[in-house]
Amino acid sequence: MIQLYIPLNFLGVLYREIKQSLTDLEKMFVLMDREREVADAPGATSLLPLPGGDATVRFEHVTFAYEPARVILHDVSFEIPSGKTVAVVGPSGSGKSTLARLLYRFYDVQQGHITIGGRDVRQVQQASVRRAIGIVPQDTVLFNDTVEYNIAYGRPGTTRAEVEEAARAARIHDFIQGTPKGYQTMVGERGLKLSGGEKQRVAIARTLLKDPPILIFDEATSALDSANERAIQAELRSAAQGKTTLVIAHRLSTVIDAHEILVMDAGRVIERGTHAQLLARGGRYAQMWRLQQESGEGAVEAPSGELAM
Ligand code: ADP
Ligand code: MG
Repeated sequence: MIQLYIPLNFLGVLYREIKQSLTDLEKMFVLMDREREVADAPGATSLLPLPGGDATVRFEHVTFAYEPARVILHDVSFEIPSGKTVAVVGPSGSGKSTLARLLYRFYDVQQGHITIGGRDVRQVQQASVRRAIGIVPQDTVLFNDTVEYNIAYGRPGTTRAEVEEAARAARIHDFIQGTPKGYQTMVGERGLKLSGGEKQRVAIARTLLKDPPILIFDEATSALDSANERAIQAELRSAAQGKTTLVIAHRLSTVIDAHEILVMDAGRVIERGTHAQLLARGGRYAQMWRLQQESGEGAVEAPSGELAM
């Protein structure tokens, strides 16, 4: 009886493990499908180290469609000089996150070029592009692993002290300490379910720790309450110092110091310039700014021109 019980119990565990592995495998194939779209060119070399530390990002006449029938970006060009910040604003669906995905090379452009330090991202090893870039996406997906793993991911060999420092800066340390197993707590589908704001802060901690030459913040603080948002914006602004940064903003007050602001609509850049230039122009940006001021969003958050999301 006992002898029979153990194998059966073992089989049950095995069954659950296999079932889970299959789910993971399915996910892997979905990822691999995407990877196939952006396979390394034969003989591709590493983007890193960037010669002379030049992390200039350039979009040159970029046209892109997820599906051939529907073009999402139309002839988009802009430059983020090495160490500067360019901000993108515009209504939902205008193509802002698509710019972020293309720079991270989740997809390849159909026309035009994206270059980093003068090199086409299609001509270098994709893994090296991802090492060069830290991204806080709009919707963070965490690994089914510990909080510590999720924060340290992107910078192998990190110490616990460094992980905690990043978590403190992202205002997520106290929350982690309060969970039953602290940094060893499992998160994701099979573990502790985190709120949108908590996931966003884990992604911010991960990016602060990774400390790459290029940063992408895609509405990185949109899921946070305003107290946390203010505190973290200050951290992000200091993290972006000297980094080539693409900021997709939901709050205009956070981008007024940007080198250039792009206003997108339906996949096109319809206005561009500095905050002052765009206000003087009296166009779409000026109108958006007025609306946010009236609703109180801009005024409350813009004491001295915060540069973050
Ligand atoms: P934004 O970030 O400005 O809200 P997105 O770049 O996310 O806009 O999306 C731009 C357009 O591309 C939208 O119309 C959206 O529906 C479409 N889109 C986004 N992702 C995909 C995808 N994976 N497949 C097909 N269409 C997509
Ligand atoms: Mg978006």
